[in-house]
Amino acid sequence: MSDMIRPQPGILDIALYEGGQSHVDGVADVVKLSSNENPFGPGDRAIEAFRRTAHTLHRYPNTDHGSLRRAIGEVHGLDPDRIICGVGSDEIITFLCQAYAGPGDEVLFTEHGFLMYRISALAAGATPVEVSESERVTDVDAILAGCSERTRLVFIANPNNPTGTMIGGNEIARLADALPPQALLVLDGAYAEYVEGYDGGASVVGSRSNVFMTRTFSKIYGLGGLRIGWGYGPRHVIDVLNRIRGPFNLSTTQLEVAEAAVRDQDYVAKCRAENARLRIWLAEALAEHGVPCDISMANFVLARFHDAGEAEACDAFLRSNGIIVRRVGSYKLPHCLRITVGDEASCRRVAHCIGQFKGRR
Ligand SMILES: *Cc1c(COP(=O)(O)O)cnc(C)c1O
Repeated sequence: MSDMIRPQPGILDIALYEGGQSHVDGVADVVKLSSNENPFGPGDRAIEAFRRTAHTLHRYPNTDHGSLRRAIGEVHGLDPDRIICGVGSDEIITFLCQAYAGPGDEVLFTEHGFLMYRISALAAGATPVEVSESERVTDVDAILAGCSERTRLVFIANPNNPTGTMIGGNEIARLADALPPQALLVLDGAYAEYVEGYDGGASVVGSRSNVFMTRTFSKIYGLGGLRIGWGYGPRHVIDVLNRIRGPFNLSTTQLEVAEAAVRDQDYVAKCRAENARLRIWLAEALAEHGVPCDISMANFVLARFHDAGEAEACDAFLRSNGIIVRRVGSYKLPHCLRITVGDEASCRRVAHCIGQFKGRR
């Protein structure tokens, strides 16, 4: 009988997302550089807010997230009525696919794009469409060539994960203006805060009705474990997404910690500066060992090896030394390793180990 109980088409095509690993058997003192986490953790104000909410856990949370949306609006200069908050930006991506794409519709993303776009498209019953990048950089012409009358959503992360590369505002505007009329462009700004002076695409959203931006507290805010993200978009899209959002999708703890975090921009600025300094240091150290990286604008670098075999051997060597980085074969980059920019000691340790690995060969 159970063969008659079947999921919706597309669901069984989903390959399970694998998070970055955090353990190596037999090694106690591991350095985890596999999930693009902030090595300094959350800021003090976020931690204080977390403790405060312990006393009100018997209360249901607020359903409209007004206080957090106003705080985000003030900090970023955005209309709070055009903001929606979710369980990580993953949930916002899920809402977008659920609301705008179904069987027969296409969801477009790039060759080395974030895996959640494919997963959410398949979960909604839509057809994922992948277009090529140009040397690990988003290619606007390839995206436009890949669009059809069935394209409903176009996802690009800018900067992208796992490449770290980004395209400029003019290219984004050109893309938005040339998309077919039924397609919504989604700019995933998970790493936007790492780029000095970049608004994550907010100004492009503000001036158009076919562009949406997602953001997260998981990266620079050091709150990946809390699960909170947000989106900013045209009013008509926010209105649609709010209809499918569960009223209690976010706990009081998530809401209050995120609000304290977003109001603490001094902490964000400190993390941004430290990341930029160490990212440059790490990329130069790897280059000296004969391992090139593209110029990354995010909190990781993509280290390129000769081939998949060398990347695998280096990963195994790092692991045996207690360092966990990310293999990116599932992103069509089997010859690369994605390395999160950790604190100074971790950066030195991973660079030193890769030097040893290269020296032995
Ligand atoms: C890490 C990441 C996110 C964040 O996901 P959350 O659900 O907010 O933790 C979104 N997009 C990309 C490209 C990422 O790398």
